[in-house]
Amino acid sequence: MAKTILPDPRRSPRFSGLCTFGRYPRLEDVAPEGRPVDWVIYGVPFDGGVTYRPGTRFGPRAIRDASQYLKRFHVEHNVDVCEVLSLADAGDAPILPFDIRATLDSVADFAADLGDEHSRLFAIGGDHSIAYANLRATYTRSGEPAHGLAVIHFDSHLDTVDSVWGERYSHASPFRRAIEEGFIDPKRMLSIGVKGPLNSSSDLDFARQSGVQLVMRDDLRRIGAPGLSRIKDFLATINKDPVYITFDIDVCDPAFAPGTGTPSIGGLASVEALELLRMFRGVNVVGGDLVEVLPDMDPSGITSMLAAHIIFEIIALDAAARSL
Ligand code: MN
Ligand code: MN
Repeated sequence: MAKTILPDPRRSPRFSGLCTFGRYPRLEDVAPEGRPVDWVIYGVPFDGGVTYRPGTRFGPRAIRDASQYLKRFHVEHNVDVCEVLSLADAGDAPILPFDIRATLDSVADFAADLGDEHSRLFAIGGDHSIAYANLRATYTRSGEPAHGLAVIHFDSHLDTVDSVWGERYSHASPFRRAIEEGFIDPKRMLSIGVKGPLNSSSDLDFARQSGVQLVMRDDLRRIGAPGLSRIKDFLATINKDPVYITFDIDVCDPAFAPGTGTPSIGGLASVEALELLRMFRGVNVVGGDLVEVLPDMDPSGITSMLAAHIIFEIIALDAAARSL
């Protein structure tokens, strides 16, 4: 029997019923049956951490809506994700829209109690500040590895600013705080798709001095560019260690993901994002997030559709790893 029971789309149309991510069951419906849950997906409708245009509080709803047409079989990995993994949607974390720090504590506490002790956590933002909370909960669940979690970070930006407008926990700073507080091993953090313009050259200093490995957007474009070999080198260093994947949708070009608050031109095409993610087949993904979708800037809904598929790709990496 499949580990995730989905409504049969030939009987129950995909546009009907309660809207959960991927039509996966609600966690509260799965948990009483005592079934283990491999991945708990939850929303964090919070955008109090943005430094530019707000609106990602509507991300979780838009992405769930766009996920109704996700199907279960991953062709390229040759794996039926719902056969291999038990998946559930826990609804949204409680947030306090006027208070960043209280929200991050609230989200981390909520995440800590989800599912069973082996459940992996996937957070749908919201702005990138919420990654700090899901990283904190994932670090604890992973047994607090001595050097912190390895991290694969897709973003146009580094998100290692010390503070903005006096706030040290905004969406500009989640990885600075997570590195300082020991949840992340910066020497096993790979930031992919970073590109300019920056406020100054010193914006790169913290990441470089901490040992974060950068695969700049340009490193992936030119013939013979070093980006792909740098990703392969990183893969060789992490083996089966727990890895967290954080995906800021603004790493994709505004042509593919216009619905975001700090857009950056010259980004990844959606097909490139999928190909890069599929390179991580075999890694031990223990948690993740997808952030910065701002639906009101994208009446077409292509950003949310891409986001839903990227979440599926990240979870499918675990399904593929377990079925190798
Ligand atoms: Mn970004
Ligand atoms: Mn970001």
